[in-house]
Amino acid sequence: MQNFDFYNPTQIIFGKDTIGRLAELVPSEARVLVLFGGESARKNGTLAEVLTALGDRHVQEFGGIEPNPTYETLMRAVALVRRDGLDFLLAVGGGSVIDGTKFVAAAVPFAGEPWQILESFGAKVSKALPFGSVLTLPATGSEMNNGAVVTNKALQAKLPFRSPLVFPCFSILDPQKTFTLPESQIANGVVDAFVHVMEQYLTYPAGGLAQDRFAEGLLQTLIEIGPKALATPNDYEVRANLMWVATLALNGLIGAGVPQDWATHMIGHELTAAHGIDHARTLAVILPSLLTHCQQSKRAKLLQYADRVWQLKEGDEQGRIEGAIARTRAFFEQMGIATRLADYGLDQADIAPLISQLEAHGMTALGEHRSVTPEVSRAILEASL
Ligand code: NAP
Ligand code: FE
Repeated sequence: MQNFDFYNPTQIIFGKDTIGRLAELVPSEARVLVLFGGESARKNGTLAEVLTALGDRHVQEFGGIEPNPTYETLMRAVALVRRDGLDFLLAVGGGSVIDGTKFVAAAVPFAGEPWQILESFGAKVSKALPFGSVLTLPATGSEMNNGAVVTNKALQAKLPFRSPLVFPCFSILDPQKTFTLPESQIANGVVDAFVHVMEQYLTYPAGGLAQDRFAEGLLQTLIEIGPKALATPNDYEVRANLMWVATLALNGLIGAGVPQDWATHMIGHELTAAHGIDHARTLAVILPSLLTHCQQSKRAKLLQYADRVWQLKEGDEQGRIEGAIARTRAFFEQMGIATRLADYGLDQADIAPLISQLEAHGMTALGEHRSVTPEVSRAILEASL
């Protein structure tokens, strides 16, 4: 096993009717900015519940954080927090609102131009405002990790950053909040969580026995409950399991002490930045082709995945590997997510600009072996057409 540091200070409050707990979680003297997305939190009553729980604290609102939150929008929140001396942030929403709030938390006390936070992948963050979250969409794990992804529209760049200073202080996970999600967002959440596990599992054996079994358990749970979350949308137990699995998929635990890939995410970010394709859909397109292209270096883990996750125990090794990749693609499609670039209206001509953007963003040595060069990314994208 590789050496590792594990640090995760986020308090999780999980279960039915837990939003009222904000009354004890947010400091009583705090000057709070509540950040949210479009209209969903207001329409389904979540925002009203949050405001009631915050009681007579000083509270201001900042709505309009879009899916794939933009630097341009978030900088307006930064200006508001600075102007009005607010000192606690509360994200109410999915990964976009929580990621956006992480950026605002780090940008408010930042001395220079805050885009440098993204350009340095978080290295320049030395202070951040405290914040909590109320999660409304199980998918990204942002509620219990220290990563965020922000889009700069002007630069057509979608870049990640991480910092130990941007873990949420707490996150409230009430699975009932997922009942208003459209099918497409449930499907996105299942696929995003699945790929988060794969990015930390499907690399090469490194002796993390418990991490492997834990990852396989999360994948099997997603395969079991994903279709049920679509078929029986009001089943609380299914939604509760989905919410907790999505959190566990990316809270640092299964990635500790093992190699990590993340090439699928980095190539996927370029597809979102350039073509506006939902995050999870970009992953569903890239992952099967990446596994196929990198099967030599991932061979041992692909065989383990075929055996333990898909119970493919018969036939020759090549057949089992191809079978496991085919089942992965079929699972995404069963969730209603198309897995080919052509399904999103892209063709060969769209690939060269994507490679230029990967190069411009320094994404030239991706994957667990740093061997996914722009040429490899090109081959993966071509195989994804
Ligand atoms: P999202 O972009 O936060 O939300 C997608 C849509 O779902 C929005 O239109 C939102 O509508 C709606 N929505 C949210 N909660 C709802 C509810 N309870 N009922 C009805 N509609 C609801 O989706 P996401 O998949 O959670 O986040 C994606 C972002 O996270 C991407 O930018 C991705 O790159 C990033 N990400 C971050 C991490 C990380 O570790 N930090 C990992 C993976 C991905 P409204 O706007 O109207 O609320
Ligand atoms: Fe993701």
